[in-house]
Amino acid sequence: MGEDEGRGETRRVGRRALLIGGGAAAAGAAVAGWDELRRLWWRLPGTERRRVEGELDHAGAVWTAAARANWRRADRPDDFGIDRVVIHVVQGSYATALRVFKNPGHGAATHYVVGKDGRVAQMIRELDVAFHAGNRDMNERSIGIEHEGFVDRPQDFTPEMYAASARLTAGICARYGIPVDREHVIGHVEVEGTDHTDPGPHWDWDRYMELVRRAAASPRPSPSTPPSASSSAPASRAAAREG
Ligand SMILES: [Zn+2]
Repeated sequence: MGEDEGRGETRRVGRRALLIGGGAAAAGAAVAGWDELRRLWWRLPGTERRRVEGELDHAGAVWTAAARANWRRADRPDDFGIDRVVIHVVQGSYATALRVFKNPGHGAATHYVVGKDGRVAQMIRELDVAFHAGNRDMNERSIGIEHEGFVDRPQDFTPEMYAASARLTAGICARYGIPVDREHVIGHVEVEGTDHTDPGPHWDWDRYMELVRRAAASPRPSPSTPPSASSSAPASRAAAREG
């Protein structure tokens, strides 16, 4: 699971957010505090995609929202590029993961939770930055996937869970052009500066990456509402993507 990346978020403005925020400053908001500027930049016309409650990025997922305190609003991949998928293990059940991610006091959550039976919950939009890696840069560039179970119980990593997670990761890689390899699909343990050990020694990376590659090679139906399709020209964007 993640940790306290959210602390200090309200005081700091990311480097890339500042570039976009420059428009607000030029419009006369130069005296605004950082917090106000930060609120302003994403409200500028054309900088924010329309959002619909319950919208999904992964067709196989069920939406259940994480607490607002456990993620940061963003407009990825326009403000921050996405080039990593981070694999976690809950150290608990699927229900536990959902419960703690809905707790604003937890300070962390992942975009997705995958159960032993292969079900997938989406709790945060891929547009947004989830606090899951314990590293600000990694949070901004990654999608986090939590898996039900315990790192020291290999039997928790079921074929259904591997398969569902692999389809999810393959879809993420396809959406953002992320290479399907171990440089870009990593464990929480591999995040710089982390003291977390998940997904642990029993996570079968060879098996998992093979499943991701296979899923990537056999395209599945696109999400019901792709993240980029809700802005001005969904039809032409979809056509361009398919062409
Ligand atoms: Zn973790």
